[in-house]
Amino acid sequence: MTVKEYIKARKEELKVEIANLGEPLNFVIVQLNEDEASKAYVKGKLKDAAELGIHAELIKLPVETSQEELLREIDRLNNDDSVDGFIVQMPLPKQIDEETVKLAVSPDKDVDGFHPLSKLNPCTPQGIMNYLKHENVAFLGKNAVVIGRSNIVGKPMAKMLLKESCNVTVLHSKTSFEDMERYLKYADIVVVAVGRQHLIDDKFTFKKSAVLVDVGINRDENGLHGDILPDRDVYLQTPVPGGVGLLTRLALMENLLKMKKSK
Ligand code: NAP
Repeated sequence: MTVKEYIKARKEELKVEIANLGEPLNFVIVQLNEDEASKAYVKGKLKDAAELGIHAELIKLPVETSQEELLREIDRLNNDDSVDGFIVQMPLPKQIDEETVKLAVSPDKDVDGFHPLSKLNPCTPQGIMNYLKHENVAFLGKNAVVIGRSNIVGKPMAKMLLKESCNVTVLHSKTSFEDMERYLKYADIVVVAVGRQHLIDDKFTFKKSAVLVDVGINRDENGLHGDILPDRDVYLQTPVPGGVGLLTRLALMENLLKMKKSK
């Protein structure tokens, strides 16, 4: 199934699950930045929520909001029992420290899965795992290569693949071209989360049975592009756009439902 087909089918299941809760599912987005990317992400999340029957509220704060003011708002949401989960849309204006904000959101409300004590995984790796499992991708003893080691994608992705008993290798900016080439050649699962358009181009070869997951989002005048050149000769390659971005959005709604059910 393509990512789009999977999302459509899974949304139908989620709609039923949410309707069967018998009480409203309440989600809040706090937005400070009004850049084009943030606006598009917020719009997408509100659209998903509406489609699934989730009650979503957008709290827009001025871009010059101080860290103290934002922390007060977070505290209010942490203590509002009617809110099942909330997120603070990243990136944040420069006067605000992102790590402080991630730690301020209560693990009981943190549907982004950013807090170290959160019961939930960050949405991007969680969404990827959900899709790969749905596609019956084999994990046990398979060679998984993750390129990128960020706290929200690369590291949790590697941890989740390890939990499924993959042999996990994490590559990064200090990895030599020769090593990257060598690891990719024997990889069964590759997740690229770097943010460099077509970093993985035709200089690299893959097993025909390989699964390539492209997390990268790179914008230019022609639209969005991934970190992997499209149409590699492999078993499965997620497209950009229409791939991991959609899986991430769905995982956010699934995290919200999980949070509600865990109460
Ligand atoms: P990040 O925090 O900037 O991390 C990038 C990682 O890539 C770092 O670990 C860095 O290595 C590594 N790297 C940089 N240049 C490299 C190179 N030439 N070769 C190998 N590794 C290299 O990024 P992120 O937040 O994980 O996001 C990565 C990409 O995914 C971005 O394009 C972002 O927009 C996209 N993204 C998409 C979604 C989605 O929903 N589709 C969600 C999150 C992120 P060092 O650690 O050595 O610096």
